[in-house]
This record gives sequence, structure tokens and C-alpha cells, in this order.
Amino acid sequence: MHLARFPRLRFAHLPTPLEPMENLSRLLDGPNIWVKRDDCTGLAGGGNKTRKLEFLMADAEQQGADTIITQGAVQSNHARQTAAIAAKLGYECYLLLENRTGSDDPDFLANGNVLLDDIYNARLSDFPAGTDMNQEMLSLAEELRVAGKKPYIIPGGGSNRIGALGYVNAAYELVGQCNDQGLKVDHIVHATGSTGTQAGLVTGLTAIHSGIDLMGISVRALKEAQEENVYRLACETAELIGSSAALNRSDVVANSDYVGEGYGMPTDGMIEAVEMTARHESILLDPVYSGKAMAGLIDLVRQGFYRREENIVFIHTGGAQALSGYRSLFGQRVV
Ligand SMILES: *Cc1c(COP(=O)(O)O)cnc(C)c1O
Repeated sequence: MHLARFPRLRFAHLPTPLEPMENLSRLLDGPNIWVKRDDCTGLAGGGNKTRKLEFLMADAEQQGADTIITQGAVQSNHARQTAAIAAKLGYECYLLLENRTGSDDPDFLANGNVLLDDIYNARLSDFPAGTDMNQEMLSLAEELRVAGKKPYIIPGGGSNRIGALGYVNAAYELVGQCNDQGLKVDHIVHATGSTGTQAGLVTGLTAIHSGIDLMGISVRALKEAQEENVYRLACETAELIGSSAALNRSDVVANSDYVGEGYGMPTDGMIEAVEMTARHESILLDPVYSGKAMAGLIDLVRQGFYRREENIVFIHTGGAQALSGYRSLFGQRVV
């Protein structure tokens, strides 16, 4: 599969490292856990959206855009990474932020990713939970067009078939690293939300017949809905890259057992996972995505879901820049 056929800008730090989590593996007394450090993609602290943005920003450039519009939750990592690259490439950037949890915690509303969005000079607007954010983006784009601008809309999470190319590439990169290191991987686990990451991965892994199981731990939708949404985008992505490999619905596996009360709502397992991974591996996860995904992985290991001799790769999709927005969950010190 020849990804160089697609326009792409190069600003991610790639390949990201693939490292063993020896302490965590020992502590859990289960399979060997490895971590693919997509929290180290380099842009604005890194994270999975950077890979997607390499393809999306190239498309924006080709279309002659001068303004970027995107949307996400208040503490969106996608919004932060988009604001960062838009600033560098000279685009105006509008971020439409939805307060999905209805929180009024000042840290949540202004710290973490929001602080960084401000530093990158993005134009932020706030919306209550349940707003039709896609419609809001369309209305804003129309307004800007009338004002003579050339807006380019990036969907939430950068999740369309262009963005998903970033994770087709990540699948190739990861399998290449494993081949170089002689590491036989049995399972890949990661957080799944707006679906572009998992759709790109499943497309890439299937296109090269990797034979590696992939599981997305859902941070929002129920299993059936998440799998359907991932599958739909994966089919579009496979068509875009011209993959002839059969993509089966059964290749798309989501696990929604670790969402808790909802998107962005803390769980005990998430807090344990964030603290454990920090204290034993020095690695910072986040409360909304990678923390819940790791909580799922830890629980599955404890349940004996994996065999001891198996190798699991956890894709760390980033998000630690949100931590200070959730100070009340972790901070013990009263000031
Ligand atoms: C957006 C995000 C995800 C989920 O990726 P999708 O492509 O939206 O499914 C996972 N982890 C972090 C830290 C994210 O910001």
C-alpha cells in the first residue's frame, strides 16, 4: 500500500518509540505489555491527532483554505493539536467546544488543554452538552465564507477517511518495528472515541494481513454502535487506499465495559490506571481516553483474558495535557 500517493505534511515526530512496560507487566503478573508512544508525536505535547492532522492539513492546503474550524469536548486533545499546527502554518483557528459533562470546575473550564488552546491563539466558543456541533461548524463556515474567508472543517477528532490515513500509516509503522525487533505481537489495545484511530489501524493491519488482534476500549459509545461506526469509516478508508484485503465486520472489536457513567466521567479504574502507570512506568496517561483504556487492559489482564506468554501493545494515544484540567481528581494538596 503506497501511502505516499496522498498529500501529507510532515510535522509529527515519527516513528514513535515502542517500549516494554516491564514494571507494569511484572506487577500484573500477566502477559508482556508494550507501549507504543503516540503520546510522543511531538506536536503541542503530542497525541494521536497529530498523525491525522498531517493528512488533514495537507488537504486544507490543497483546497486553498485560510481558516480551520473544528470541534470537540472542552478538554479536547484534538482541538489543542489542531490549534497548534494551525498557528504554525498561519491559519486562523476556530475551536467549538462542547461541555459534555456540564462541569463548572474552573480547572476543567480554563486549565489543561483550554489553557494551551489560548496560548496557541485559537478562537474558542463554548456550547452546552447535546448541541449539534456539526451544524454549528457548518453555520460558522457559512458566516466566514460570507466574510470572504476560506474555511476548512475538520470533523471532531479528525475522524474521516483522510484523518484515518494517519493510523493506516501507524499500523504499518508498528508492524515494521515489531518485525525489526523480532517481537511477535498478539494483541493491540487502545482507546477509541471518534473512531478514526481504530478505523485507520484496522484498515492498515488488514491491508498487510498482520494477523494481530485489535481491541478499542470505548470511552463513550456502547459496543455495538462503536463497532458499527468504526467499521463504516474503516470501509471508506480501505476504499480510499485501494486495499483489496477483505475487511470483516468481525475484525472491528470494541469493548465498552470501562466507560463508567459516560464520556469524561471519572472511574475508580481510570484513577488507579493513571496512578499505577505514572508510579511504575513514569508514563502519564489521561482521565478521558488513555486512562480508561489502560483501566480496561489492567482489568482484562486480571481476569485472565490474555495468556502469560502473549505480547500486548498498548497504544498510548496521549492526553496528559488534560490532567491539570482534572486537578480535583488527582491533586491531594489543598491550597
Ligand atoms: C481523540 C483521542 C482518542 C481517541 O481517538 P479517536 O480517533 O477519536 O477514536 C484516544 N486518546 C486520546 C488521548 C485522544 O485525544
